This record gives sequence, C-alpha cells and structure tokens, in this order.
Amino acid sequence: MSKLVIVGTVAFDTIATPFGKTDKILGGAAIFIGLAASQFDIDGAIVSVVGGDFPKEYIKMLQNKGLDVTGLDIVESGKTFFWSGKYHNDMNTRDTLVTELNVLADFKPKVPEFYKDAEVVMLGNLHPMVQLSVIEQIPVRPKLVVLDTMNFWMDNALKELLQVIAKVDVITINDEEARQLTGEYSLVVAAKKIMTMGPKYVVIKKGEHGALLFYDDEVFYAPALPLEVVFDPTGAGDTFAGGFTGYITKTKDYSYENLKKAIIYGSTLASFCVEKFGTERMLEITEKEIHQRLRQFKSLTQFDIELI
Ligand code: AMP
Repeated sequence: MSKLVIVGTVAFDTIATPFGKTDKILGGAAIFIGLAASQFDIDGAIVSVVGGDFPKEYIKMLQNKGLDVTGLDIVESGKTFFWSGKYHNDMNTRDTLVTELNVLADFKPKVPEFYKDAEVVMLGNLHPMVQLSVIEQIPVRPKLVVLDTMNFWMDNALKELLQVIAKVDVITINDEEARQLTGEYSLVVAAKKIMTMGPKYVVIKKGEHGALLFYDDEVFYAPALPLEVVFDPTGAGDTFAGGFTGYITKTKDYSYENLKKAIIYGSTLASFCVEKFGTERMLEITEKEIHQRLRQFKSLTQFDIELI
C-alpha cells in the first residue's frame, strides 16, 4: 500500500455557529485530514502532539480507522492545542476567539522510520517550522508534498512559511489567504504569483463556492455541492485536503489530470464534514454514501451543449 504522512494539529475545539455551540470536542487539522484520507485503502500516519488531557479513546478511534499513531507524541505534563471559533450568520466567515498552542509550542515532530519513504506528504496546518522539519526528515523526495496553511501563520511566522512554500509541489489555501499572501485581489494573478514562490500546483478553496486548481496557464474548477444542511464548516478545508491527498496516494498518479479528480474527491468528502458539528459526520459516513455523492457531483457539472 502507498504511504501518506500527515502532519497537523490534533486539537480540542469549541465551536459556535448560528445553530448552536459545542463544549470541547475533538478537532485539529491532522484529525480531519486523517479521517478523510482513511476512506481510501492506503497506509496513513499522523505526526502530531497532544497533552496528557487527550482521551485515549480518541487515539483508539484513529487506530480503528487504520491510521498509524506512532508519530503522535503524548506530553503527559502538557495540555492539548486548543482553538475556539465563532461563525457569522452567513457561515462563510468566522472569528477565531482563542488559539492556545500549549504542547504545540515546543513540538519537535518525529516521522516514524517506516514512513520515511512515503509517496505523499500532507503538511497540514501548524507552525511552518514543524512542517519544514517533517520535509527534512524524509531522505528521498516524496512524489508529492502538499501544504495547507492559514492566515494565523502568515501573521505570526511569514518568513518560515515562505521557506516551506518554496519546498512543496502543491499548496491548498483559501481565497482570502491567497490574497493576503500575495497582495493581489485577482485569484488568477494570486495563483500565478504563488507558483513563482515554489508550488507547481495551487488549489484555492472558496468555501461553499468550491475550489480552483491552477497549473501553468491551466485552471480547473470543482464546485461545492449545494447542500440542504450546512451546520458547521469547521474542518472542511482539512477534510478537502485529506480527500485530495488520500485519493492521490491511493491512485499513485501525480499528473494534472489526476489532480483534477482528486479535488472532486476532496470536495465530496468536505461536503459531508459540514453537515454536523466537528468530526461527527466524518466518523459515520459509508462508502455507499460517498459514491452516491460522487454521482451527484457528476450530474451537477455535466451538460451537453451545441454551438449554434
Ligand atoms: P478549517 O476549518 O479547515 O480551517 O480547520 C479547522 C481546524 O483547524 C480546527 O479543528 C482547529 O483545531 C484547527 N486550527 C485552528 N487554528 C489553527 C492554527 N493556527 N494552526 C493549526 N490548526 C488550527
């Protein structure tokens, strides 16, 4: 089986949406990425850190999903990364109320020996120095290195972030972050500018308006499925990244044509994530539901037209 290394936060989140709010629940970029990627028949490993307050049952759950957790460091004396966010009425924008790095502040990632020849590396959202350290621990260059990040790191560690961006093949970023990173309003111009920073492929996520994949002078668009229920968008971007990299790891095809299919898989999985709070929906989806939604996706975008 092909290997996928996932680095990112493992977190406690408290989330408020117009529909309700949660106590501390399981969250974090690596969790959403891992749960999405575990839908594919691959060998996935999570590299992250938690505190002594992290319930063992969550670790069991990850193992039951087939994810390797030998690279999940447990600092018994510390507290797990904590994030709290509140969504506005339109659900497209949110305010971060609290970010407590806790054990993440001193985290030194260790990629397990068995995963040092991974085909795909997914650098999920966390400190760019941690992302860099993961790249540096892998002696043979992976077939594909994908980076996700957010405005928090642009504000707090831009120099380090630019170093990571220079080393990756694909960056996934949302529209506002692409604008912040480049100072360009046009997403086409922003994507081109990001390509000069390192990545060959740029994926710009536009929330309920889907995602764009840029490569050279080409652009491909995957819409988001119009959903009846959008309950909590937390983790949608990470779930997208997990579906995207999980699909590529499984198919072992790193071409532009296959990356187009991967963003459809990413969008499909993200469409489930938003239907319930946190990871709830991702923990219960079945292969049948995924296939059904992929078919809906196909019919959403397929049409015949005659030129008259
Ligand atoms: P998303 O909605 O895809 O942006 O991801 C939300 C997840 O990102 C939550 O579960 C948070 O725990 C996690 N998160 C929030 N802020 C950060 C940050 N600065 N670095 C890494 N992960 C974060």
